[in-house]
Amino acid sequence: MRIQAKVVADNLSRQLTAINQSLMAVQQALPYWQSSPIGHIEGQQTLENMDAAMSSVRTFLVTDAQGIVTFTNRQELLGYHAFQREYVQAPLKAMDPKRLYVSPPFKTVLNNYLVNLSRVLLDGQQQFAGVVSAAIDPTDIDILLNSVRYSDDMQAALVHGDGHVVIHQPVSEVSMEQEMAEYQAFLGRHLRSRQEVSGFLDAVSDSGAPRLSVMRTISPEALAMDKPLVVVLSRSREAMLAGWRSDLRQQILAYVLLVVCSVAGLMLSQRQRVQKIMTATRLKLATEASGVGIWEFDLVTKKYQWDNTMFALFGLDPKAASPRNDDWIRQLPPQDLQRMREATRVTIKNKQPFGMTFQIRRPDGQVRFMRNRAALYSDDDGVPRRLIGVTEDVTKRKQQQAELRVAAAAFESHESMLVTNAQVEILRVNHAFCKLFGYAPDEVVGKNPRLLKSGRHDVDYYAAMWSELMQQHSWQGEVWNTRKNGEEFPCWLCITAVCDEAGLVTHYVATHTDITLRKAAEDEVKRLAFFDPLTQLPNRRLLADRLHQAMSKAKRDRGQLALIFVDLDKFKPINDRHGHTAGDQLLQAVAHRLRTCVRESDTVARVGGDEFVVLLNTVTQTQDATCVAEKIHATLRLPFHLPQGQSVQISSSAGVALYPEHGLDEATLSHHADVAMYAAKAGGRDRYVVYESTLDTPLTDITPSPAAAAASNATP
Ligand code: GH3
Ligand code: MG
Repeated sequence: MRIQAKVVADNLSRQLTAINQSLMAVQQALPYWQSSPIGHIEGQQTLENMDAAMSSVRTFLVTDAQGIVTFTNRQELLGYHAFQREYVQAPLKAMDPKRLYVSPPFKTVLNNYLVNLSRVLLDGQQQFAGVVSAAIDPTDIDILLNSVRYSDDMQAALVHGDGHVVIHQPVSEVSMEQEMAEYQAFLGRHLRSRQEVSGFLDAVSDSGAPRLSVMRTISPEALAMDKPLVVVLSRSREAMLAGWRSDLRQQILAYVLLVVCSVAGLMLSQRQRVQKIMTATRLKLATEASGVGIWEFDLVTKKYQWDNTMFALFGLDPKAASPRNDDWIRQLPPQDLQRMREATRVTIKNKQPFGMTFQIRRPDGQVRFMRNRAALYSDDDGVPRRLIGVTEDVTKRKQQQAELRVAAAAFESHESMLVTNAQVEILRVNHAFCKLFGYAPDEVVGKNPRLLKSGRHDVDYYAAMWSELMQQHSWQGEVWNTRKNGEEFPCWLCITAVCDEAGLVTHYVATHTDITLRKAAEDEVKRLAFFDPLTQLPNRRLLADRLHQAMSKAKRDRGQLALIFVDLDKFKPINDRHGHTAGDQLLQAVAHRLRTCVRESDTVARVGGDEFVVLLNTVTQTQDATCVAEKIHATLRLPFHLPQGQSVQISSSAGVALYPEHGLDEATLSHHADVAMYAAKAGGRDRYVVYESTLDTPLTDITPSPAAAAASNATP
């Protein structure tokens, strides 16, 4: 814009110089023009010629001292009173003949603004004699200003030194006064600076938008202009920067894209780095947590690298020991070391993975088992370079395996065993189970052990069993089970719940012991304890028990009962004559006959060699008892035919005592029955005697019979 401004200024300067020279020429010629009518005509003609020659001048005129136009190229202006005009007033006031006066723009009748250039005319007395003046034609200046506007946003103006705008391109809607106001401040600054040219970056502002402007003063020295003209060029900063902005936007966009891509890339790589670190950390934590040590063996340098876990596994201090100086090699037994070297050799030779378990003795004396696994890493040429591996302490696993072997051996014991899960589905049975129950394993696996149940126990029995199992985690007891063939048999069942570390049941283990034989033995023991083996009659212990119960009941019911003591007469001689076996057979026959004499609910017991006791539970009167005694007596008198053909006839002596009449307790009642029996013996045998108190006295010194002793001893 500085160049454009210079172009305009140079052009205008030349025009101004030319106009000034014209004015000076008129000034010089004027006395001649005024001297004669011919001179007058000649002057008039000269002005018209000058106007035709100088397109930049619209009007030439000369006024007299009163401001009346005396000469002009335009006839209509002759005689025009221009005295008040600035182009007359300014020279009149200054009266400087060297100066070129530049008038402020004024509006013409044609609605144009015009600037007049004037020079003062002085007479012989140096008094004001009028002015010679030229009005600059704005058309040329318009064209000139427009020619330098190389863009739409560019404005070009010619401004008078007092701030009035002469011409403005493009022609603005706003009034000249407004335009002026916008230029004033910067114009003032420009003029005060006394620089020929000024540039303002933030300068001229029309309607608030910042503009860049250049101001160049047109005031050639030779012209001695009283007021300068200033050419002002300005451009909208916005529009000027638009291209640059568009470039900038694209560049910023490209830059932003670059930054975004870089940041994204950076973040991605950062994240990958973090992930790598995290993966490494996780791996480290995982390996540390798992107790697995990691090592690397450089096949070229023969050097090891260990992580901390490796040192911990070998019980070595990472600060003091080094895998390089073979601190750990010494911990291996020679044969394991040999195996390891061989395995390494084979791995390298065959390029196969490496794996072996070996034993170490750590510095603290502990013997541990370690498992090594490793992979071989070769370089690009396929030459093995490194062996990278992990080492794991498998001592516990080895122990568990051993325990499992023991458990497996124990499982296959002679005792029947089954294992269920927590849902009580059979997982495993052993050989003894199959033998005991008759099932093959696949017939029971997956099933509930209730298939072994017999119908002998009610729901409550199993409910109690489970209740205890839940609380105590074990139960044992007698259970009747059923074999596959339907046979029921008694079992001693032990169930143990197996719990995990959290105390939750994971398995149940049940063992079954066939107790058929034991139960038979128990029954036998019971039989022996309470029954006489020879006659199968209750013995004195069972009699005592039944007597106790009968007495209790009789007491409760206010009922009666009777005890009859029976002893065979002269039994010893029969043994002697027929032999002991015949004696036994006779005793069995006696027992049989005694049972026939009483009701089912009554008890016949053998309490001694040939001594029997009959307990009658339901007696309403004494006669009921004597009747039975009579019947016994009669029955036993009948001849016995022994298996060997002998016929034997015996008699018996019996004593009868009744409750409550003859005794209120078992001991007394037994004693009195015994007393009565002895009375029968004493009375000559072959009879029965009902107790009465008179019997007591003569018999006091008689030792009680075993029957009485048994009955009283057994009394609870
Ligand atoms: P008494 O009339 O006084 O009763 O004479 P007794 O011979 O029956 O003598 P007592 O009742 O005192 O002796 C019973 C005998 O019975 C003694 C013994 O030889 C015999 N005896 C005891 N137990 C058995 C047995 O289990 N089998 C056999 N065969 N004889 C027995
Ligand atoms: Mg006897």
